[in-house]
Amino acid sequence: MNKENLIWFDNKIIPQNQAKVSVLSPTSQFGANVFEGIRGYWNDDHQKLYLFRLDDHINRLLNSIKMMRFEDKYTFDFLIKNLIKVIRANNYTDDIAIRQTVFLDGNGSWSASSPLNMFIAPILKKRFDLKNKSGVDCCISSWERINDNSLSPKIKVGANYINSRAGQLEAIRNGYDFPIFLNNLGKVSEGPGACLFMVRDNMLITPPTTASILESITRKTIIELAQKELKIDVEVRNIDRTELYIADELFFCGTAVEILPIVSVDGINTGSGNAGKLTQIISDEYFKIVRGLNSDYLQYLTAIDYEK
Ligand code: PMP
Repeated sequence: MNKENLIWFDNKIIPQNQAKVSVLSPTSQFGANVFEGIRGYWNDDHQKLYLFRLDDHINRLLNSIKMMRFEDKYTFDFLIKNLIKVIRANNYTDDIAIRQTVFLDGNGSWSASSPLNMFIAPILKKRFDLKNKSGVDCCISSWERINDNSLSPKIKVGANYINSRAGQLEAIRNGYDFPIFLNNLGKVSEGPGACLFMVRDNMLITPPTTASILESITRKTIIELAQKELKIDVEVRNIDRTELYIADELFFCGTAVEILPIVSVDGINTGSGNAGKLTQIISDEYFKIVRGLNSDYLQYLTAIDYEK
């Protein structure tokens, strides 16, 4: 049952532990790699695995390649075709997460733009484990979020996650689950690997894409479903730190964390200190969409079945 994961690596499908990258490669030395985390949701009734917003993920990967000035080697179709091929090779009939990483291989310096290589690794993946809590306890990080004029948070590059790491380690050291970063203007940006939403007076509020955040696909989905499905007013604007202390509800969103309620910030309870009502409604709607249970959103799903 627990067979070895097969990954796509350098044009071949091989067991994960057979992939080799040089220690001197710029990806190994400098974090010169761009990647996407994509989720696949198994629908047992439909006998299909639904990949959520695959086209958007691939387009963001191509944008990351462009902003990094990596060589223009991979086409949209090639990236999609091989991702589907390696999922099929694994025959997954459960929820999965796929890591698709384009990296600088060879032994050049940090300024190299080739040779590029890629791996695509799908793995079985469950939901984030809240361990009997209804949400996560957060702190404002003492580390400032990277910004567009230093290390752009818009590029999903491995090196950016050293900033995430600093904040995450500090949060855990101080007894919290996750950090929330402020940007270089002192406004709320995002978590270490997720965007943030706040509810105040039944209004859903999230920082703009210019607030030192990744252009999150989940964030975009939530804005759409809140407005269209739930008729909730959405405001995209800067958020002050102290607003987090008096918010009715807060949650993180992202491909990996999905919808993750935040129940306190800096030791101050968010609302009642439990996951919020609107957060739950948004979360229920989100899971219907990703699992193919809302027919109005099927255009966001790439269905994989194993019949043939
Ligand atoms: N911000 C950061 C820093 C992330 O790593 C992620 C996860 N990709 C997100 C936000 C959420 O983005 P998405 O909804 O596209 O997964």
